[in-house]
Amino acid sequence: MEFSQSRITKRVFMLQVATGVGVLAAVQSTPVLAADKLVPTDPYPKSMGFKLDTNEVDQAKYPRHTTEQACRFCQLWDGGTADFGSCSFFDGAITPKTGWCKNFKAKKTAA
Ligand code: SF4
Repeated sequence: MEFSQSRITKRVFMLQVATGVGVLAAVQSTPVLAADKLVPTDPYPKSMGFKLDTNEVDQAKYPRHTTEQACRFCQLWDGGTADFGSCSFFDGAITPKTGWCKNFKAKKTAA
């Protein structure tokens, strides 16, 4: 079986396109988290009482805290309905929707 130069070139081109599309698809399917996740044991988040789960907050230390307060209900959180979002108070660090810190600011509700 004999292939002409143009058929081989076309085949190589199609393989290159397919490979490129595959690489592009792999890159696009990777979740994009530009910032680091906020670590509760790091000094600053720790000083702010940050917890990954609002249910783990020390109620004696933060008596104004309620378990209804969580990052997903905070004005400073940008995550929509996702499980993780960025917190502008911590320079865009990623926090879970269940997180909490003592800088919690309840989102304003529509009147
Ligand atoms: S400021 Fe709001 S969004 Fe940021 S960690 Fe504290 S409670 Fe969560």
